[in-house]
Amino acid sequence: MEDYREKSFWLSELDLQPGDAVDGRIDCDVAIVGGGFTGVSAAYFLKQLDPSMDVVVLEKDLVGYGASGRNAGFSMTLFGFSMQMTRLRFGKDQAVEAHRYMNEAVSLVQQLVEEHDIDCDYEHNGFMRIATSERYVRRIKKELEFAAKMGIDDMEWMSAEEVAEQVQSPVFRGAAYEPHAALLNPAKLIRGLKDVAEAEGAEIYEGSPVTEIDVDNGVVLTTPGGEVHADRAVLATNAYTHLLPLARSKQAPAFTHIILTEPLSDEHFDKIGWENRQGLEDARNMIHYFRLTDDNRLLIGGSDVKIPFGDEMGLDHDEEVFGQLKEGLDFLFPALSDLEIEHRWGGPVSVTLDMAPAIGEVKGGRLLYSVGCTGHGVSLTHLNGKTLAELITGKTTERTETFFVNRWVPPWPPEPLRFVATQTVRNALRFQDRITDSK
Ligand SMILES: Cc1cc2nc3c(=O)[nH]c(=O)nc-3n(C[C@H](O)[C@H](O)[C@H](O)COP(=O)(O)OP(=O)(O)OC[C@H]3O[C@@H](n4cnc5c(N)ncnc54)[C@H](O)[C@@H]3O)c2cc1C
Repeated sequence: MEDYREKSFWLSELDLQPGDAVDGRIDCDVAIVGGGFTGVSAAYFLKQLDPSMDVVVLEKDLVGYGASGRNAGFSMTLFGFSMQMTRLRFGKDQAVEAHRYMNEAVSLVQQLVEEHDIDCDYEHNGFMRIATSERYVRRIKKELEFAAKMGIDDMEWMSAEEVAEQVQSPVFRGAAYEPHAALLNPAKLIRGLKDVAEAEGAEIYEGSPVTEIDVDNGVVLTTPGGEVHADRAVLATNAYTHLLPLARSKQAPAFTHIILTEPLSDEHFDKIGWENRQGLEDARNMIHYFRLTDDNRLLIGGSDVKIPFGDEMGLDHDEEVFGQLKEGLDFLFPALSDLEIEHRWGGPVSVTLDMAPAIGEVKGGRLLYSVGCTGHGVSLTHLNGKTLAELITGKTTERTETFFVNRWVPPWPPEPLRFVATQTVRNALRFQDRITDSK
């Protein structure tokens, strides 16, 4: 049996084993494939909206096995790749709408945690996007002006001196600060949300990979232990969605990685400050993001992404990226370079061809999907779960009318073209970083 503790530091602390698998035939109203934030949130909101509905979640490994149990735990408002890209691709009103949706998403996570008293080390400390060169100062200031022109004014510029009052690094030259952002322990959150959804009456099966989906008469989902018959199904399979024939071309996986140090000592904190423990990110395309954990370890993630070929999904460990992350730590926080790296892991994020999220319905609404949350899905997936539940129960809300619901998703080409296309985008982003890093 797979050792789930290796999948992330967060999962290693919980020491989980999969619960009951599907055994025989199950009949239900809605079957959800995938036990991450999207799937479990959708199950919870379906039971909230219609308690009489039979809702079943099918998870191939255990709830939190995917990105939801491995991510860095930034609950933040960034939609897709950047606000500029959203505006360029969809228009101004849509970029504003996306930001509003994401603000609601961050609030929803906070509300769920508080209402259900989910123990997930939640800290609503805000978020700083840091400039590490003069070019990044100009880039971030331009982004803030761009947002302000659209009426988005919930982010503010902090000078190098103001940043230094919060957190000290020789290379920090200013930052955009966003107060409405939080940090949390993602594995504790998803396992807590699982308990909440089950308490509402959702049935969750683990160790139950869906190997076939038949949508000709209702929906029939095949797992090794038995079949699940449902009126409708949701693919909450995120970066694994291309492995299922009905949504194969909607998204492609990209692997991103994290390293985690031993706990910082008081002497380390004396050197860097960081009393307010904000989440930090630099402004590169291939970002480095930094945060403190509840037990004061430093988590560093991001840098290069790794693109799998075909159905490969095993790029969790990449020594090259782990090395780049350590270099990133030494560059951004030289005062912490003596810290031992105690944990290393990675996981897949879901990327659409236009790098924006999408929720949709196919097969006359019998099958719904949510893809493309990239590395910004912690808050978004929770609200997407609510939106999916509203679509299924026939409610019309601001969310179900959002522009990325039932939008056209440009298809990724089949392999080997998909690999070439994803590598080309990755290389272009890396090239731009090299230029901007230099000044
Ligand atoms: C290393 C890393 C760091 C990240 N950091 C952040 C961050 O700080 N902030 C942020 O906002 N976002 C971050 N993200 C992205 C975020 O984690 C994801 O967007 C989010 O967790 C996606 O949730 P999900 O439920 O859609 O997918 P997942 O959590 O991936 O869940 C999908 C589930 O479907 C299951 N599944 C797949 N196929 C089948 C099948 N055939 N049958 C049954 N089950 C199946 C999988 O096992 C998995 O559990 C990060 C991601 C990674 C990998």
